[in-house]
Amino acid sequence: MSTVNGGISFWYAQEGAPAPREPLPGDTTADVCIVGGGYTGLWTAYYLKKAVPFLNITVLEAKFCGYGASGRNGGWLYNGIAGRDRYAKLHGHEAAVRLQQAMNATVAEVLDVCETEKIDADQHRGGVLEVALSPAQLNRLRAFHAAELAFGETDRELYGARETAERIRVAGAVGSSWTPHGARLHPVKLVKGLADTVEALGVTIHESTPVTEIKPKHAITPYGTVRAPYVLRCTEGFTASLAGQRRTWLPMNSSMIATEPLTDAQWESIGWDGRETLGDMAHAYMYAQRTADGRIALGGRGVPYRFGSKTDNDGRTQPQTIDALREILVRFFPQLAGVRIDHAWSGVLGVPATGAPPSPSTAPPAWAGPAATSAPASPPPTSPPAPSAT
Ligand SMILES: Cc1cc2nc3c(=O)[nH]c(=O)nc-3n(C[C@H](O)[C@H](O)[C@H](O)COP(=O)(O)OP(=O)(O)OC[C@H]3O[C@@H](n4cnc5c(N)ncnc54)[C@H](O)[C@@H]3O)c2cc1C
Repeated sequence: MSTVNGGISFWYAQEGAPAPREPLPGDTTADVCIVGGGYTGLWTAYYLKKAVPFLNITVLEAKFCGYGASGRNGGWLYNGIAGRDRYAKLHGHEAAVRLQQAMNATVAEVLDVCETEKIDADQHRGGVLEVALSPAQLNRLRAFHAAELAFGETDRELYGARETAERIRVAGAVGSSWTPHGARLHPVKLVKGLADTVEALGVTIHESTPVTEIKPKHAITPYGTVRAPYVLRCTEGFTASLAGQRRTWLPMNSSMIATEPLTDAQWESIGWDGRETLGDMAHAYMYAQRTADGRIALGGRGVPYRFGSKTDNDGRTQPQTIDALREILVRFFPQLAGVRIDHAWSGVLGVPATGAPPSPSTAPPAWAGPAATSAPASPPPTSPPAPSAT
């Protein structure tokens, strides 16, 4: 079997295409209109509805809930805050420590909501293991680890080569840093579960309903306009396609591959019994998880930006990106040199374009690991997020 490239993502290939919800039937009103049915939009709907149950909330989704990065990501539920140094500079060290503590709690909060709402997203709280594969990476690892401790993450552990191998036998790993504040998820199971949950709470979701323009108190679609005192733009990497927003947010690409299910003997040689999410200290970072059905799903930045803010075609990635990700896989686990890559895909996340005012949401994702932490970024979206705009 050859590698399937695109088809939204491996996670959707596993779960099957969702039955579409009805598009917007015509002009209407709401208390809150949310544009975009990814984690940002759906978590926002969830917490608003929990806080004020009588709110009339409408979600407008161009394709189907989870079509974007929320249905394509690496499934790292993580406490990392890219840009924490910048917060500390702006608001003081103590405030940044409190933010870190809130992020730690967020990991548990997401898992609690999954339990309360009976969302089975293959969640496993194994923490996050970040490995160093060279002396330079080891220096970065030590600095990163010390910084995490300084921001109050005192339950983080630093390992040497032997202790690292006791968790995951990554070829050439000279050390690692582990935090308990992380979990593995199946991204599509989470986003589908969230959509079903908010719908059951009384939120209206219209799919196949692209918003062409957001104006104050108006979300305009080809099928009608939703008028609402609050219109929340939750479109992250797709924002540039909205009228007037071409230069507001840049879509940044990240690509992933999923192997065939590994054999027991292969898993025996690797370890990874704790199902930690796995990252490294390279500048061209990787992120990976051991999936519930025994594969390795691994990603990296791929082609970061496509000219003209273009996005991929339903998750299709470049063949050379598949080769590059396979190389990383084999560098980590040489015994997988002949392994089949079942699926490859791509997605976009958004970063504010240059010139945007300083904000807590300016770029590389926290789940991408410590190499990204010196640049400001949005909170991990697998956590209850703030909408990107009103
Ligand atoms: C390959 C990859 C791996 C990643 N791995 C991780 C990870 O492991 N951990 C982590 O925390 N983060 C990860 N991320 C980032 C994370 O997935 C995203 O930041 C997050 O899912 C963004 O959620 P969102 O709801 O803001 O945007 P999206 O999930 O992109 O949702 C936006 C939605 O808006 C819809 N939309 C777009 N335009 C319109 C319109 N005009 N009208 C109506 N609807 C519209 C889209 O169809 C889409 O469903 C990854 C991202 C990628 C691409």
